[in-house]
Amino acid sequence: MIIAQIDFKKCEICDSCTAVASCATRAVIKIDKDESAAIDQALCHGCGDCVLACTYGAISIMEV
Ligand code: SF4
Ligand code: SF4
Repeated sequence: MIIAQIDFKKCEICDSCTAVASCATRAVIKIDKDESAAIDQALCHGCGDCVLACTYGAISIMEV
């Protein structure tokens, strides 16, 4: 299975997470404005759109 993962050291906790908007399945979630974005693995299908959308290169695709 291929899914996205967030490197929490790279995530800049943007006020408006561009990766959230990029994900058609709503797998990128950002609940608290003071916390990093996260990936709901159950909803992610590994398309990579969020990787391109994240301004800081905090998201990558991995095989699990
Ligand atoms: S755009 Fe990238 S760096 Fe910014 S909150 Fe979203 S995942 Fe983190
Ligand atoms: S890889 Fe695709 S489905 Fe998975 S979180 Fe990113 S945009 Fe959403």
